[in-house]
Amino acid sequence: MVNYYSADYVLPVSTEPIHNGIVGVDESGEIIGVYQPGTKEISDKNIIKHRGIIAPGFINAHCHLELSHLKGKFPKGTGLISFIEAVISQRNTAEAEIIDAMMAADKEMKQNGIVAVGDIANRSVSKSVKVKSTLYYHTFVEILCFEPEKAQEVFRDGLALCEAFEGLASSITPHAPYSVCKEIFRFFKQLHKPENNLLSIHNQESEEENKLYRYKSGGFIDFYQKLKRDISFFKAQARDSIQTIVPLLPKRQPVMFVHNTYTNMKDIFFVDRFAGNVTWCLCPNANLYIEGRLPKIDLFLNQDSPITLGTDSLASNDKLCILSELLTLHAHFPYLDLAETMKWATINGAKYLGIDHRYGSIEKGKKPGLNLISHTDGLKLSQNSTVVPLL
Ligand SMILES: [Zn+2]
Repeated sequence: MVNYYSADYVLPVSTEPIHNGIVGVDESGEIIGVYQPGTKEISDKNIIKHRGIIAPGFINAHCHLELSHLKGKFPKGTGLISFIEAVISQRNTAEAEIIDAMMAADKEMKQNGIVAVGDIANRSVSKSVKVKSTLYYHTFVEILCFEPEKAQEVFRDGLALCEAFEGLASSITPHAPYSVCKEIFRFFKQLHKPENNLLSIHNQESEEENKLYRYKSGGFIDFYQKLKRDISFFKAQARDSIQTIVPLLPKRQPVMFVHNTYTNMKDIFFVDRFAGNVTWCLCPNANLYIEGRLPKIDLFLNQDSPITLGTDSLASNDKLCILSELLTLHAHFPYLDLAETMKWATINGAKYLGIDHRYGSIEKGKKPGLNLISHTDGLKLSQNSTVVPLL
């Protein structure tokens, strides 16, 4: 049986928005067709009419499912370093509590119309939840190692953890420029099939990261002192963190830089010139939660690398909802065009995760999930907009 849904607008993403468009979907969720109003072929069909916008299922490009139990635990606006210290202090939570919170978070994402997730892992605890979930997960196993002498061991442990996610999509990735030494990047260059290893790197989430790289000063010096880590080997690089690490990255590995709150125009030029396959991931609500500011969005609009959206974790967000990220962006940057930002929320993430054959756009033969966004104003969101999955 095929169901036909229509709304004020259908946003297929792969083609132009269709006013009063209609989508045909079979029982398995496969798109049978996308139609203009009045199409003869379906004139005798019963069409389920909605107000609002029909869009493909959302792709949450950056999440940390395993931090879900930290919801509401940390105050807002403390800055990144205090936030990291707070996360480290909560390491000993009971596993049952963590799993319950992850299951609730997985359910919340589904209810908010998310169909696929790029999820960071530092341990294997999220595997049982991901195996049972109807959402698609790509797990990024994070490597954190700022001390060169430990690099080999830490990298080996990371590969083993990645193997623990066998049966699910996974890859290993450096955590962030301030937490990974050059030696770790050398190991990434030696990976057997680099083009299959997606990277997802936290980037310039705090100005302290740039201070560390430019001048070897700022909050990360105290941070490592408190952890009793000797970073005397590290030399100031006289340029921003991203400009230092891009030349160290294996060119064939697709890389997604996440947050980019303190990324400037020079950094973007540098990345355009010297990096391979780059995607910029924005997590606006998490940026406001932790640092109380947003990236310079305009810098990312007119360049070649695609933009994706992520929620980050419930430790730094009130909800796991891509519509909520869109609402924040459109409220702060009212000139953004929803037909464009919807690509950030859907197809760009699907392409990055290598799942655009199924997800990311409403096209015949795909099973992208369908979302109904209500309380809209033509092709614009309103602050009251809500989302429910239609399938
Ligand atoms: Zn993150």
